[in-house]
Amino acid sequence: MVMSPFIKTMSKVSSIKKTLTALPIIKKQANVSPLVVGDDLALRSGLTSPVMYDKEIVKLIHDHIEFADEEDNSKMNYPKFISSLSNVDKLSLLWALFKSTYETLGERDFKCPNENCEHSKTPFKEEVLLEDIIHEDTYTIWEEETPFNEFVHQVDVPYENMIYSFQTRLPSIKDNNRLLSTMSNDTLQTNLQQLGSIFSRSQNMALLVKAVQLQPKPDSGLDIETVQSDNLQEILMAFNSYMPLGVSDIALEKYGEKFDKYFTKFYKTANCPICGKEVTNDFDLEVEFFRRSLFG
Ligand SMILES: [Zn+2]
Repeated sequence: MVMSPFIKTMSKVSSIKKTLTALPIIKKQANVSPLVVGDDLALRSGLTSPVMYDKEIVKLIHDHIEFADEEDNSKMNYPKFISSLSNVDKLSLLWALFKSTYETLGERDFKCPNENCEHSKTPFKEEVLLEDIIHEDTYTIWEEETPFNEFVHQVDVPYENMIYSFQTRLPSIKDNNRLLSTMSNDTLQTNLQQLGSIFSRSQNMALLVKAVQLQPKPDSGLDIETVQSDNLQEILMAFNSYMPLGVSDIALEKYGEKFDKYFTKFYKTANCPICGKEVTNDFDLEVEFFRRSLFG
């Protein structure tokens, strides 16, 4: 198509507002351009299910991204993009997409931690800009020599007569999307409303685990064969219905020791206008995105 001067100028202006962001896990940098009116339609058509919505978001990010190193742009098609970027990198891109499009998350409630203060009951409001929620500890660069999508960290949890072994990982965009494909809109809505998160505990564990093995302790005297699974549906069902809470507590704790530092920390600290006490609010941009779309 030949671009008229009008279209050329519109296109130029829309690309000025690009936001540069770091992709800490794949150790690259990328520019993200703002959402345009046509993107809104794409997002709305994705509202049929969580997995479709996630796919639409990721497609939009893929359309709006330009790697700082030009060579990466030519080889990063969509399938490669979702398997070679971690979900943490996606959050950084989501931040940049929000920043270039809206600049602000709007006014938010802050609840004072001081029990004697009026604002512990009636929260005060403060505007939260995207640039406010980024801090020095928001991103941690991937430290392992193996790329994140090939890296597995084994977590063993001896429990009663058994040993539960988890092959844990940092999930990719694709892993995240696969898990969403097992969920209905109702489940997502329930999770968001009751837990304030996208995934329940067992779903979250299934996301962090590539495979599970169950074997009796050598001295247990149990006649149980060692079994394992890397099937998502099987793992989900097993975690939900049969995994002792005590095992998941220990597994998640051990997982956290290895991986927690990599998860993005978006937060804003404000001072209570009455008593001056500091209040910190955390923001989950993925939850923000789903909330915006599901509840308007
Ligand atoms: Zn206060």
